[in-house]
Amino acid sequence: MKMKCNKCNSEKLFVKIEGSRRGLYCSECGKWQKWITKEELRVAEVNEIPILNQNNKFRRKN
Ligand SMILES: [Zn+2]
Repeated sequence: MKMKCNKCNSEKLFVKIEGSRRGLYCSECGKWQKWITKEELRVAEVNEIPILNQNNKFRRKN
């Protein structure tokens, strides 16, 4: 998963869990990118993209 912000082209993105949806956001400008699937979330995990849970806490790696 090669991802870049569609506004500022930053590659620093993060995932935020919002209810049953998972939003992909830019860490630089905060722009929402897209909703990602369960499969893409797994890809984000192995690519060490930060994942915020619903309490705005970063998920710990297992
Ligand atoms: Zn951006």
